[in-house]
Order: sequence, then C-alpha cells, then structure tokens
Amino acid sequence: MSEIHYRTCHLCETMCGISIEHEGGKILSIKGDPKHVLSKGEICPKPIGLQDIHIDPDRLHKPMKKVNGKFIEISWNEAFNETTSKLAAIQRKYGNNAVATYQGRSTAHNIGALLTVHPLRQVANTQNTYTGSTVDQQPHNFVWYFMLGHQFMATVPNIDQTDYFLLLGSNPKVSNGAMMSTGANPHKKFVGIQERGGKVVLIDPRRTESAEFCDEHHFIKPSTDALFLIGLIKTIFSKGLAKKGRLGPHIKNWEKIQPALSNFDLPTIAKVTGISQHDIERIACEFATSKTAVCYGRTGLSMQKFGGLCNWLMMVINLITANFDEPGGMMFPTTAIDTFTAIEGARGSYDTYRSRVSNRPEFAMELPVAVLAEEIMTPGKGKIRGLVAIAGNGALSMPNGKLFEEALGQLDFMVAVDPYINETTRHADIILPPVGPFEKSHYDLFYHTYDTINWAAYNPRLFKPEKPGYTDFEIIGEIVRRWAVKKASNPLKKLKVRLLGALSKFITVEFILAMGLRFGPYGSGINPFKKGLTLNILKENPHGVFLGKPKRILPEGLFTNDKKIDAAPQLILADLPRLKARWFEGVAGYNEEEYDLLIISRLTERTLGWLHHSQRLVKGPPTCTLFVNPHDAKNRKLKEGDMACITSAVGSIEVPVVITDNVMPGVICLPHAWGHTRKGTRQRVANAHPGASLNDITDHNVMDELTGNAVVHGVPVKLEKIRKKIQA
Ligand code: SF4
Repeated sequence: MSEIHYRTCHLCETMCGISIEHEGGKILSIKGDPKHVLSKGEICPKPIGLQDIHIDPDRLHKPMKKVNGKFIEISWNEAFNETTSKLAAIQRKYGNNAVATYQGRSTAHNIGALLTVHPLRQVANTQNTYTGSTVDQQPHNFVWYFMLGHQFMATVPNIDQTDYFLLLGSNPKVSNGAMMSTGANPHKKFVGIQERGGKVVLIDPRRTESAEFCDEHHFIKPSTDALFLIGLIKTIFSKGLAKKGRLGPHIKNWEKIQPALSNFDLPTIAKVTGISQHDIERIACEFATSKTAVCYGRTGLSMQKFGGLCNWLMMVINLITANFDEPGGMMFPTTAIDTFTAIEGARGSYDTYRSRVSNRPEFAMELPVAVLAEEIMTPGKGKIRGLVAIAGNGALSMPNGKLFEEALGQLDFMVAVDPYINETTRHADIILPPVGPFEKSHYDLFYHTYDTINWAAYNPRLFKPEKPGYTDFEIIGEIVRRWAVKKASNPLKKLKVRLLGALSKFITVEFILAMGLRFGPYGSGINPFKKGLTLNILKENPHGVFLGKPKRILPEGLFTNDKKIDAAPQLILADLPRLKARWFEGVAGYNEEEYDLLIISRLTERTLGWLHHSQRLVKGPPTCTLFVNPHDAKNRKLKEGDMACITSAVGSIEVPVVITDNVMPGVICLPHAWGHTRKGTRQRVANAHPGASLNDITDHNVMDELTGNAVVHGVPVKLEKIRKKIQA
C-alpha cells in the first residue's frame, strides 16, 4: 500500500507544500499539497526532479579520497581524521587565515548545514570566510544593515494587500518570488492587485515571462536601474508627494536624500535608461498617490554594478511614500523562530578587516567571493592553502569560474561536503557526501524571513538513509569536533574540547528547533502553563500552521542603536559619484566600441544549478540558449540556431542563438549555472546536457564597489557568428 508524506519543498525560498506518494522505499509521485497553508497545491515543475536525485546512481553515498588523481571510497573515520588533520596542520604552519571556508547558496535551504555555519566559523577562526551571498544578495543585506541595523531584517512586499506593485529586475513567473515567499505562481496574485483597481509595472531589460501578467513593461538599459529610481524619487519630492507617515519621528537623515540626488537630472536619466521622462514622472505620481504601493527588485538589481545603490533607492521610495511597515507596502514577517537575535554577531559588521590582496572590506565577517581566487593564487603571508567547501559549485557560480578552478588546483588541501563529483568538488582531496534530501528532516530556518504570511512547518525524514549515512549537520558537526581537538594547544585543552564535543552529540536538529519554537514569538517561553507553538504541534500539522498576516513591527523591531531608520547612510551616499561618473560622465572602464553588448542572465522554469542531475528536468530542447535582439542579430548576420561566440574581458564561450525581440537591442541574455563540460566529474545527466557557463565570461575584477557583490548582469561583451554545427 502506498503512503503520502507531506513536506515543504526545500529547493527555493518559495517554500511550496508537496505531497510525496511512496511505497516500499520508492517514490511514486510528487505533487502539490492542496492543504498547504501557503501554496495551496501550487508548485512549479522542479520538485519532480528530487525523485531523480533520490535514485541517481551518480549521487555519492560514501566518502571519497583522491589518490593519484582518481577518487576512491574510504571510511568515514578515515575521511574525518584526514580532513581535520590536514586543516589543523595548515593552520599550525601558516596561521588560521591559511584556511578558508566557503558555503554555497544551498546551505540556506538546509537546516543541518545552516545550524553548523556558526560552529564551523568559530573553529576555523579565519578571516577568509566566503559564501554565495556575495554573488547574489549582498546588496540587500548591506542596505538592511545600514538602514535598519540588521543584515537579515528582510523587507518583504505585502503582495496580498498592495494596490501598486512596481517590480525591477525580477521575474516572479519563473523565480516564483525570490525574497518574497508566496508559494509558486506569485504572478497569479497580480490579478488580485488588478481587481483591487491597482496596477503592476515591470522594469527589465527583457520582456520576461512575468511581463504578460503586468499592466506595463518598460525596457531599461542594464545597470541603469539606480538612475530610474532616482528619477522616481526626485519626481515624488518635486511634486510635493513625499510623506513621512507614521514612522516620521523614527526616520533620520530624511533631509539628506534630496541634496544627495541633486546632480542627477531627469532628461539625462531618461536618455541613459531608455525610459521616457514622461513615463518616469507618471509612474512616480501613480506610485505616490496609490492607496498603497510597493517597490521591489531582485537579482537584476543586486547582481549588478550598482546593487547597493539600487537597494537603498528602493527602500527610499517605499519610505518616502509611507509604504514602509504598512499593509500593502514593504513589511516584515514575524518568524516562528527568532533567527535575528539567536546568533551573537549575526547583525552584521563592516570593514573590521580587509582582504589581503585587493584590500576589500569585510561585510558581516565575509569577504567578497570574487577575491577568493586571488587570495589562493597570490603568494605571501596569509595566502589561502586549505579550503572547506560546503554545498556550492563555485566553478559554475562564481565570477570567472575558470580562474577559480585554476586556484583550486593550487590548494594544498580541499574538503568538499557535497553529494556529487561536480565541476568544483573534482578539485577536492576529500568529498564527504550528506544523505539525500528525503533522508533528513526539514524546517526552513532561513527562508521564513521572506514570508508574505506568517507560518511554520516541520517535516521529519521520509526514508532512513543507508548505513552509515550522515546528514550535513552530523558531517560538519564531526569536522568541527575533531578539528577543535586537533587545534587545542595542550592536553588539558584537548580534554576539555573532547568533553564539550561529546556533549554536543546530544544536541540534535530537533532539539534546537524545539527550543527555538518555545522561545520564539509564538512560543510559551519559560512559562510551563502557557500554551504556545511547539515542535509537536508542527509534527501534528504536516500542511503547516498559519500564524497570521504580517503586522507592523516598527519602530520597536529596529536593530539600530538609536531605534531610528537611517534614510541616507553616509557610506551609501558616498557611492553616488561612481554612478554619476559611469552614466553622466561616460567613465565605462572598458572599450565600449569593442564590447558593444551587455549580457544579462535569466532563470529557467525547470532548472536550478543543482537540479541538472534530474533527467526529467533537463530533457528536451537545449535550455542554455542565447537570446539576441533581431537588430543585433542582423548586424552580425546571425540566424536562429547559429552558434555564436561571446567574448568578455576574461574569456569566451560558444552558445546557440535564439532571435527574439523580448530582449532590448544592445542586450543579450543567457541562463547561468550551465557548462558541464569539465572532465573528471561524475554526473552523467548533467554532462549529457552541458550548455556553457556564463561565469566563464563574468569578470572577477568587476564588482559592486559598495557591497562587494559580483557582477553577473550587464557584463560588457562582444558577439560573433562562428561556423560550426549546433551541438545537440
Ligand atoms: S517554486 Fe518550485 S522549487 Fe520553489 S519551493 Fe515551490 S515547488 Fe519548490
């Protein structure tokens, strides 16, 4: 008899409920869970891929060690011992900074890996800490830290109540709502806005899949979004439409906003962005006079050269129209586990130290991942010689992936916690594979910070792993325990660390969750007679527990020392001359005649980088195709299906062309996380659908100077036709 297991899909922050029919250890189907509190049965195509990953013969089950260039299976004990001995030896000889840690983006989707971030950083005690955040969302965290006092104090659009939704660089139809957890298909909520008499306006260099659900779409030249936002703010002030609203007494530096933007005039903004002055002024007035409104942007704004400024300007627009912490505007979820205050030091920090080679400031005790390669490759004191890489495929996801791979080849030792031998882990000396996605319990510790409603769900594991099989929590926990013992400087300290390590084995993910819920905002705390949210309640409610609509939380919820919102942090204002120099004074920093196109990235409906192991998701016509505007295609004599070579300052790739007017002239568009062409991997499905890696042409030397985020959108390139048959 088959059974049904209900679970929250962990693949993205949308957090849809899925129902998994299974029998005798086999998965029969994966569908949407109609009773799920958030998604109500809606899902995207991706979770069916989990079925393939669960049974994929290429997925590792035992630790692997590279011997004479080939991976062989070894025991867990040997793997843990060798890993921690090597890491401790490097640090003893060269200092703590000689070992770096890198946590990929999927760490945030995985409670076990997430709970070990802090202990791992404590034992590594290195300034060389890197994560996928600096390729993706650092500008958001940076702005939240400087304006609100906490890097994770996420502003989330109240899409269910807003009357005017202005989106930039975001494609909810395909992303399903990045940093805005709504359940799949958030574009269906656009209908509600339109039925309320409201409007949805999209600004993007591509007429994306979301555009057809919007009332308006405007092309914008890549990396000029900050100018468009400045145009809106200037109009709102000049028309007398700015208002402080309820939070007025709790906002500081309001008076600095207008003077800071005085050097930018609307006619030039219109000329550079490609959006007419009339449209900029009209959208500004519509936004400011709408009953409620919200301005929201995602990767198109954060993964570009002016990501920090874009995110600050969006916050300002919501603030000066009194759409901040108000229903229908930007709001803040109240998560069942208080992830903000639970970890000491999680608020953020800035410039307490700098990177060794190019002198980049840390943010939140992390350095930009774009400098990791140079920190490994540049000789001298403090050079990185050892790397702990967790749940990330930097070779395909970091800027200038080929250089990053070259750097990995120069390490003395690398350990990867990952279930595959992929483009990155093939460089490791040891690979420690965690159990599969259905062989561990799940709670979205991090992504509830993007909730559009307040809710919580817990899912126990569905299958017992093959023995011995360890979760990420257990693997990284064991590394931490053994590494700490090996680093202890004398026998007494070693004994103490051993005892603490033995005790820590009793702390399970479930124990931490139970405590987090009890002492969270819906829990009973220390009062034994009070009823509150518990882990048992979540266990009894597999479709999730609804905890209410978002409520106003400011000013009490602010983390700034003076309990004020800083509307114009000085550090952010100081970045405005860079924007002006680029677009008003023409300081491009590259040859604009030679590199005459700007490339942007796009998401695709059926894939994420770590789902290229699923045959069901990657089958069919190639996904990794280049969108070219007919005007640009004609200039290069390109026809549909031709192979073209894209060249940037750091490399070249070859891709098949699709001619479409859904990208604006001067812009080409390619999906990222492809490029499964490297030798020595063990991932037959991915290798059968190789594509090309966008990150072989993104430039590690170019980043958002303010936040250190890598630049993926708006990379200058040239495009040429090549005479070659299309690869299937
Ligand atoms: S949108 Fe798709 S991948 Fe994301 S949580 Fe929902 S079903 Fe999973």
